[in-house]
Amino acid sequence: MDFQFSEEQRDFQRTLRDFVDKEIKPVASEMEKSGEYPTEIVEKLKAMGLFGMTVPEEYGGLDLDPVSFAIVFEELARGWMGIAGTLGSHSLSCWMIAHFGTDDQKNRYLPALATGERRTGVGLTEPDAGTDLQGIRSTAVLDGDHYIVNGSKTWITNARHADPLPIMVKTDPQADPRHKGMSILLMDADTPGYEVLRDIGKLGYKGPESCEVVMKNARVPVANLLGGVEGRGMQQALPALESGRVNIAARSVGIAQAAYDAALDYARERTAFGKPIADFQAIQLKIADIATELQAARLMTYWAASEQAGGRRADMQSGMAKYFSSEVAIKASLEAMRIHGGYGYSTEYVVERLYRDAPLMAIGEGTNDIMRMVIAKSLVSGRDSIG
Ligand SMILES: Cc1cc2nc3c(=O)[nH]c(=O)nc-3n(C[C@H](O)[C@H](O)[C@H](O)COP(=O)(O)OP(=O)(O)OC[C@H]3O[C@@H](n4cnc5c(N)ncnc54)[C@H](O)[C@@H]3O)c2cc1C
Repeated sequence: MDFQFSEEQRDFQRTLRDFVDKEIKPVASEMEKSGEYPTEIVEKLKAMGLFGMTVPEEYGGLDLDPVSFAIVFEELARGWMGIAGTLGSHSLSCWMIAHFGTDDQKNRYLPALATGERRTGVGLTEPDAGTDLQGIRSTAVLDGDHYIVNGSKTWITNARHADPLPIMVKTDPQADPRHKGMSILLMDADTPGYEVLRDIGKLGYKGPESCEVVMKNARVPVANLLGGVEGRGMQQALPALESGRVNIAARSVGIAQAAYDAALDYARERTAFGKPIADFQAIQLKIADIATELQAARLMTYWAASEQAGGRRADMQSGMAKYFSSEVAIKASLEAMRIHGGYGYSTEYVVERLYRDAPLMAIGEGTNDIMRMVIAKSLVSGRDSIG
């Protein structure tokens, strides 16, 4: 392990930290409670160029290195994890289009996606298939120069803003192995037969919408088949999910940092038995645990990100970072809640939001059980080693 932020990355972190402290933290709780879409904050993220994080410079993007990419998600989630969600699947989708799109697809979509004028998301999960992505049922049947698409997707974050929405379909449902019959189509929002059906109610992760979408004989031009060759869908999605896992790990670190900050402040201010509760050893032990695990999660996350630099695959590293950091975020938010006593259960303190937001980190971009299987597979096959 050999990793340090560069001076440029430190400056970038300072800029983002400042932005989050001024523009997000003061309004996050009220906006989250009201259910209002964070339009103003999104406009500011656009102005900072963050919708172009994974878009190459030649198409107007920032083309951030993986460590700077993780910095963005840690800092935003420290203010409000939901805001990080407006950029998460957008960046993943831009990355896929940039890496696997045809020249026509890159020219058509990337410049407007980089500025945020157009937004996007990722449509993989279906009502009957999440982890078992190869079990999806949506189909695309060739008809002249169009595909006729039927099926549904669920839990699609940013679906109401996504144009295009890359969706995973079966172009050959009989293929064996199944992944050889899977492809990604770039679904334009105005495609007849394509509809965002409803928003799904959620425990947390308010801000961005997560929706059910349906395709009923939706006609998608062949020119919108990602990369122009059928059967490559899984090969295109899996490496994108790998960078998505660093994004989730970094969001987890942001949540855990916010939990730590809130817990420490509260423990210093709250008095019981004539002294601040921070003076009690039981509270100190919790603070020490949160801080230690948080710092370990942060190191692991930036290590995994740095391993991805230069386009290297880092399944094991990003799996470890996502698994460990998300568990740390869940525990930190619960312990911070305990430190707050009864007030931790009140909607007037930030810890209840952190506690509602943290569990998603153990689910999104592959559940933590799956992360452990990814890690073990890399080690058992000898593709990776540690030590
Ligand atoms: C708020 C939110 C936002 C989301 N946003 C998006 C999005 O934008 N786009 C998108 O495509 N999806 C999105 N998802 C879906 C998410 O990726 C899936 O929920 C996740 O991959 C798990 O799939 P599932 O819900 O079908 O659970 P299942 O796959 O049914 O899993 C249920 C349980 O079984 C376990 N399990 C399943 N298979 C195995 C196995 N082989 N071995 C061991 N354990 C196993 C899982 O770990 C889990 O504990 C979102 C989900 C949520 C909650």
